[in-house]
Amino acid sequence: MKQIISILGATGSIGDSTLDLVRRHPNQYEVFALSGNTQWQKLLQLCIEFQPRYVVVMDGDVALQLEQGLQAASVTTEVLVGQEGLCAVAAATEVTVVMAAIVGAAGLLSAMAAAKAGKTILLANKETLVVAGALFMDTVRENGARVLPVDSEHNAVYQVLPEALTQQGQAITQSLEDFGIQGIILTASGGPFWQRDIASMSNITPQEAVKHPNWSMGQKISVDSASMMNKGLELIEARWLFNAKPHQLSAVIHPQSVIHSMVRYQDGSVLAQLGTPDMRTPIAQCMGLGQRIESGVKPLDFMTVGQLTFAEPDLNRFPCLRLAMAALSSGGDAPCVLNAANEIAVAAFLQQKISFTDIAQVVERVLEQMDISISGDVDALLMKDAWARRVAQEILSTV
Ligand code: NAD
Ligand code: MG
Repeated sequence: MKQIISILGATGSIGDSTLDLVRRHPNQYEVFALSGNTQWQKLLQLCIEFQPRYVVVMDGDVALQLEQGLQAASVTTEVLVGQEGLCAVAAATEVTVVMAAIVGAAGLLSAMAAAKAGKTILLANKETLVVAGALFMDTVRENGARVLPVDSEHNAVYQVLPEALTQQGQAITQSLEDFGIQGIILTASGGPFWQRDIASMSNITPQEAVKHPNWSMGQKISVDSASMMNKGLELIEARWLFNAKPHQLSAVIHPQSVIHSMVRYQDGSVLAQLGTPDMRTPIAQCMGLGQRIESGVKPLDFMTVGQLTFAEPDLNRFPCLRLAMAALSSGGDAPCVLNAANEIAVAAFLQQKISFTDIAQVVERVLEQMDISISGDVDALLMKDAWARRVAQEILSTV
C-alpha cells in the first residue's frame, strides 16, 4: 500500500533527509503536505517537484509570496497558514504517516493532532515528548496512533528492544523489567567541546558551537549538542517513548557516533545498533514501517573507524545536562520549563546576545522561579511554556 505522508518541517535538515528518501522510494510514498516557516522559495521548489495537495507556512506575508510563486508555476498546491494549518494536514483523513520534524515546542500541537487522529507518527520533534510526554503518550494510546522514533539514539534503542515490547510503535505500557531489561544507555558524541579547556568555554562563538563533529543538523539542535542539553532532552524523550524509569536511563560519551545507543539486559547482554552517522538510516528504518529499505547511507567501514571509545559526561563542564537530568527526576512541568527557557537562551546565544555558558545560567534561573503546580492539559502546558519564555527573556537582559 502506498503511504500518504505529511512532512512537517520539510525545509529543515530532517526534512531534507526525509525528502531524499521519498525520492528514492516513489512507489512507496506520496507527499500530501509539506510545511516550513519562512523559506518560501525552497517550499516553492519542493511543491513544483512533489505536487503536494497542501503546503503550510507560519505567516500571512510568506503565504502570499508562496501563493504567487505557485500560481506563476501553475502548481495547484493550496497554501495553509499557522498552527491550524499544521494540525489540519497532520490529521487529514487521507494521511497515513506524519513526519513531525518541526524544531522546538512549535511542533507540539501538530504532533498532538496527528496522535489524536491515530496516525503513524515518525517523531523527530523530541520537544513534544519533553514538553508534554505524559499527555502525548496517553493520546497515542487512546487513539491507537503509532510513534516511531527518528532521533538516532531512540531509533537504535527501538531496534534492539524486544519486538513484543515495541509492537510496531504502539505506546509501551509494560515495564522494561518484565522483559529482562536493566537499562537504556544513550550514546552522546560529546559535541565539539567535550575536551576543550573549561575556562575558555565562555568564549565559544555560535559558529564554533554549530559545527558538530559527526552530524549535520539544524542550528538549535547543534547548539544543544554542544551544551549536551540535547542528551538531557533525549533522556526525557526516552523516558516517555520506552516507559522507562529515570534510574534506568543513562548517557555515555562515545565520540565516534558509531554506536547509536544500547540496551542492557539482566543476563549480561548489551545490544547495540551501529552505523555511519547519517540521519537517513533512522528515518529509513521508520519509513520502511517494518521493512528495511535502501537509504543511500555509506556502509560502516570498521577499518576506517578503527576504535570505539567511551567516557563519562562531566556535569561541571555540561551544566545543561545536569539541569535536564534534574528535570527528568523531578518530573511534572520541569521539563516543559527547561525546554522553553533553553529555546530562548539558545536563540539569544545564536544572536550573540549572551555567551555559551550563559545558556545554562538562564535555564537554571528560570527553573528556580517555577511553581510546582502540574499542568493537566496541553493548554496549561503552553501557558507554562509562555511563562518560562517571558521569565527567560527578562533574565537575558541581566546576564
Ligand atoms: P531545522 O532547524 O533544520 O528545521 C526545522 C524545521 O522546522 C524547518 O522546516 C523550519 O521551517 C520549521 N520551523 C522552525 N520554526 C518553526 C515554527 N515556529 N513553526 C513552524 N515551523 C517551524 O531542524 P532539524 O535539525 O531538522 O530538527 C528538527 C527536529 O528534529 C528537532 O526537534 C530536532 O531536535 C530533531 N532532530 C534532528 C536531528 C538532525 O539530525 N537534524 C536529529 C535528531 C532529532
Ligand atoms: Mg539524537
